[in-house]
Amino acid sequence: MNGTERDERGRYLKGVSGNPAGRPRGSKNRPVLSPSQWVTKHWKRAYSEALITHGNAEAALFELAALYAQHHPLTTPPGLCPACHRPLKLTSTSLYDCAVIAAPAVLTHARCEPIFTQGRLVEAASALRKILELAG
Ligand SMILES: [Zn+2]
Repeated sequence: MNGTERDERGRYLKGVSGNPAGRPRGSKNRPVLSPSQWVTKHWKRAYSEALITHGNAEAALFELAALYAQHHPLTTPPGLCPACHRPLKLTSTSLYDCAVIAAPAVLTHARCEPIFTQGRLVEAASALRKILELAG
């Protein structure tokens, strides 16, 4: 900044944009898509950004895998554990059978949670590898 864009109180002068690279006047806003609506080009762009952020392909992939899993809901019927497919006992106090929240709005048995969480991540990473055309 050269100091002539703002007034003495720090406000931008009339006609000066604080974001010169922003949306041109009169052009339409692009809708912000949820990751559940993303297609290949969106996942590829997000992967490129994650690669820059992490500098590591595996870390970038697993960050996106968490996002992918969050936005691709389970098909397990409510009341069943998505890891072992046995009924959830919501009133159980046993550490083995009680239900825990394994992901937003996802219940599993307490003992199934680590397997479920890891499995979801591995599945999502595998789906993303196909989308991103990565080996592995
Ligand atoms: Zn289970």
